[in-house]
Amino acid sequence: MVTLSDKLATLMRPEILFSSFAPVTSLTGIGPRLAKLVAKAAGPRIVDLYWHLPTGIIDRRFTPKVAAAPEGQIATLTVKVERHYPSPRHLKRVPYKIRCSDETGVLTLIFFHGRPDHLEKLLPPGEVRLVSGKVERYVGETQITHPDYIGALEESASLIAVEPIYPLTTGLAPKVMRKAVAKAIDCAPGLNEWIDAAYLVQQRWEKWRDALTAAHRPQALGDLGPETPARQRLAFDELLANQLALALVRQSARRSPGRAIAGDGRLRNRILAALPYRLTAAQLAALNEICADMATPEPMIRLLQGDVGSGKTIVAFAAMLNAVECGGQAALMVPTDLLARQHFKNLAPLSAAAGARTALLTGRDGKKARDETFAALAAGTIDIVIGTHALFQDEVAFKDLAFVVIDEQHRFGVDQRLALSTKALSGDGGGLRPDLLLMTATPIPRTLTLTTYGDIDVSRITEMPPGRTPVETRAVPIGRVDEVIAAVGRAIAKGARAYWVCPLVDEADLDLAAAAERHKTLSALFPGRVGLVHGQMKADLRESAMAAFMAGETQIVVATTVIEVGVDVPEATIIVIEHAERFGLAQLHQLRGRVGRGTEAGSCVLLYATPLTETARARIDIMRQTRDGFRIAEEDLRLRGSGELLGTRQSGLPEFKLANLEVHGELLQAARDDARLILERDPTLSSERGGALRVLLYLFERDAAIRNLRSG
Ligand code: ADP
Ligand code: MG
Repeated sequence: MVTLSDKLATLMRPEILFSSFAPVTSLTGIGPRLAKLVAKAAGPRIVDLYWHLPTGIIDRRFTPKVAAAPEGQIATLTVKVERHYPSPRHLKRVPYKIRCSDETGVLTLIFFHGRPDHLEKLLPPGEVRLVSGKVERYVGETQITHPDYIGALEESASLIAVEPIYPLTTGLAPKVMRKAVAKAIDCAPGLNEWIDAAYLVQQRWEKWRDALTAAHRPQALGDLGPETPARQRLAFDELLANQLALALVRQSARRSPGRAIAGDGRLRNRILAALPYRLTAAQLAALNEICADMATPEPMIRLLQGDVGSGKTIVAFAAMLNAVECGGQAALMVPTDLLARQHFKNLAPLSAAAGARTALLTGRDGKKARDETFAALAAGTIDIVIGTHALFQDEVAFKDLAFVVIDEQHRFGVDQRLALSTKALSGDGGGLRPDLLLMTATPIPRTLTLTTYGDIDVSRITEMPPGRTPVETRAVPIGRVDEVIAAVGRAIAKGARAYWVCPLVDEADLDLAAAAERHKTLSALFPGRVGLVHGQMKADLRESAMAAFMAGETQIVVATTVIEVGVDVPEATIIVIEHAERFGLAQLHQLRGRVGRGTEAGSCVLLYATPLTETARARIDIMRQTRDGFRIAEEDLRLRGSGELLGTRQSGLPEFKLANLEVHGELLQAARDDARLILERDPTLSSERGGALRVLLYLFERDAAIRNLRSG
């Protein structure tokens, strides 16, 4: 699918990169069939082959004598061809054999379905040939079946070499992949240097193209490590693109002046006094930090981090009231309708008590209601709006948007976050940039914050509200699901409420099938008391299913992971997670956070299919040991290694193709500092190095940032 941003990228991509972004079919020898396999292993474009680095080597420089060639190893042998033994005419299944030898012994070459004319040309009797392949011993004989290479002695230079091993996919021959990558690298353009000259010298790095070539031509195992100069340079390039893109976004956000927001506290005080609880010290500290930042005239871009259930919403709401106290408007944006409604339901009464006017805006509103909301936002008769992506619609205009909060921010792209804050520029705010608060429950370690947001200010809520009830976590093999169902049955007979989360499968349809199936079996046992909520349901049905559960009309809700983020039903005390082994740690933690929010103790049952992989077992063990989100995040990182943060797509963290943050942490710092310096000296990237840096951004597909540069 070609998206608008793909199109824009194509339009503006520098010409020197055209060939790099061509499909792999533009390589000779790669037709549509092979292209599919290459795309599966590496990606569909030439540039994907650049980043497809080898993971091993085959050393054909190993040239033992026949008698000394160890079984099972790849070796290159120099032998004299003696005699051909073609397959008997009527027994094609008997292989074609060729007897060769050196002074130490006999080597038999085996070819199934060998073509005599071809083999006679390749291996003429009486001649000396180099033969490379895996050595086998069969009934005392030394053999090579289908040698990888056969050549004359003159070809030894090209044959007796070290070959890179690339990650493959079923049906893709190593040779095809190797050739494709080699061709891609051969045609890679020489690009102007974007790394600071002094730094390049200090690091003793080569030019980009040379580093790329070196990374793909390992000569020894040691050349495959992330610390080699070539791989370091490539990792730095990627990190620099990442940091520069973020710095550009930030620069454009900061270009228009912000506003000093310092309300008199009258609305906030009323609300905080009316709450049935007191804010924790951690919540107050975060709120104070946010308000102090809002009070400065620079536009705020701040991340509010707090574990699931730590009470971020009320903190954000108080900050929104701060904006309203100053006569501005505030918007709270969330990723799903469900969450928007839940927040609205919880916050509207508080707003009303404070005298702030609140509205809900989602994609599901009827036209009339929507038009009314639009009009009220433009007229300024609404102070606070809570909504989904619908807030991005072109028709949405604010009278004076002063403050934007984005909840569960990882569900939104950087572009979207900025789009909303740009809205303000069309209002009465006089082109002042609203302050922006991003909220996340993903406890992101510092390095990852840097790669996700660049230099962002962070407030953390580091303690939980008091009175949180413990959640007992148990792991049960799926074979004992009947016992779990019986236990849930006993609990709901006493009035409990339970979530039943169904397995995460790649395709949404399968998710659905599993959830529907489970819903059927549970409904049969507990008629009328089981609801179903999944992502593909019509929103109003999902809504009413969720509402019925919140109201206690149903007591079990079978759900796909749509309940993962933010849903708050304090009465729910049980969560069963089916096929827990398929979930990442962060997700399990999020899901479990749905229970243990009320006064009753909670329980979490992790149903797993056997046999468990080692990692899955470790994940489940960690879940049983701790509820501390930061600890869980760290363990998660350790289990996966940040080199392949498998769950990153779910958590919204950027994925790197070349950089491995565990090894390249220092390079990240350097890239951050460099990006800052670059924009200080050349904010429009117009110098010669600036031009090279633009190419870098395109090369790593951070070109959205360049659009910031243009429109900014
Ligand atoms: P999250 O940080 O996961 O978004 P919420 O803001 O949804 O958490 O808060 C979780 C629950 O905790 C809500 O029901 C909220 O009313 C409650 N809560 C928030 N702050 C406190 C507090 N200081 N004391 C007691 N309960 C609180
Ligand atoms: Mg929340």
